Amino acid sequence: MTDYLQYINECEERLKDKFALIDGIAFKNQCKVIEAFRNNRIAVRHFTGTTGYGYGDEGRDCLGKIYADSFGAEAGIVSPHLLSGTHTLSVALFGLLMPGDELLCISGMPYDTIRPVISGDGIGSLKDYGIKFSCVSLTADGGFDVDAVKSALKNGNVKVVYIQRSRGYELRDALSCGQIGAVCDVLRGCGFGGCIFVDNCYGEFVEECEPTDVGADIIAGSLIKNPGGGIAPTGGYICGKQKYIDIIGRRLTAPSIGLEVGSFEQGYRYFYQGLFMAPHTVAQALKCSLLIGIGMTDLGYINYPSIDKIPHDITRCIEFGNAEDMINFIREVQYASPVDSYVTCEPWDMPGYDDDIIMAAGTFVSGASIELSADGPVKSPYIAYFQGGLTYEHGKYALMRILSKLKK
Ligand SMILES: *Cc1c(COP(=O)(O)O)cnc(C)c1O
Repeated sequence: MTDYLQYINECEERLKDKFALIDGIAFKNQCKVIEAFRNNRIAVRHFTGTTGYGYGDEGRDCLGKIYADSFGAEAGIVSPHLLSGTHTLSVALFGLLMPGDELLCISGMPYDTIRPVISGDGIGSLKDYGIKFSCVSLTADGGFDVDAVKSALKNGNVKVVYIQRSRGYELRDALSCGQIGAVCDVLRGCGFGGCIFVDNCYGEFVEECEPTDVGADIIAGSLIKNPGGGIAPTGGYICGKQKYIDIIGRRLTAPSIGLEVGSFEQGYRYFYQGLFMAPHTVAQALKCSLLIGIGMTDLGYINYPSIDKIPHDITRCIEFGNAEDMINFIREVQYASPVDSYVTCEPWDMPGYDDDIIMAAGTFVSGASIELSADGPVKSPYIAYFQGGLTYEHGKYALMRILSKLKK
């Protein structure tokens, strides 16, 4: 394997400038997070859990505040009771939309597990509650289709415009905050007065700003991705305008109690420490993404985003063109993991997905994709999605294994 180390050192030389830019972004974000902690006078007592109703649980309330401050938002909900990204996005949408309203997605079809939330039949979906849905695809070059967005706004009774920042299982690049900010201006320019909502999964701390800094009203995501810093054991967050956070809070709990209840006896230290670590951890993941990207490019596999620029999310999709190479890649990621490294990955019919999915996640937190992981639906053209890495060195080790398996 040491032959590969020589090669990887050369890759690092080629990536030097990008790595320096990533360090710069991490530094800006680290400053924001520390200032959020300082401005809210976070102290050891905030880590202590409560029980029962959790009235006056300062750990819970201040966690929402430091997330909001870090993301340029007015208010935030951060909760271990938000079970996953999908649950978090679902709670937010059910809070924001009422029967007769319309949800307009302007970044193509949303992520696989969100589609049934929107338009499933007879499962308590938004559609079952009489909420209409329409969708505008991105243009061929991955931008917003501004004309189509404008005409979609005219037709309906749109209350929420939905944007998915990361690619999900689509072959496109993540949207930048620059693009999201520009489309927010277009929406407001057309007189749109509803809520601009961003699925922010995999995008947190990748740039120096977040969608809420550039015009989005609400962002939401998972704590076992970027903002949990690899330390939060579970949970989700929703940040944005106070008025929307209040409505969503009443949906998270009950209309009569909102955000004044909720306890978590184990305490909140992992959530605070995770947010503190997140800017650095995201930088590690970005470096892993670029390193794997350069390695796969040299092996001849098409992969996105381009290794010539700083990515806009932490995921990388790699097109293998055949099942064998894809499955071997995913298996090597698993074999390179600190946990369950002896396990051989197999495709599986997972809840929420239409196709069989193969997933490598030898993670400390079950399924955490801020940790080094890879997955994808086993169908033509055999694309694997790689993401994470708590340490850059782990990405390096994984690439060494992948090279020794796939280099023909
Ligand atoms: C991961 C992800 C989700 C859903 O998150 P889960 O925690 O897996 O439910 C939603 N949207 C995007 C873009 C994602 O990457």
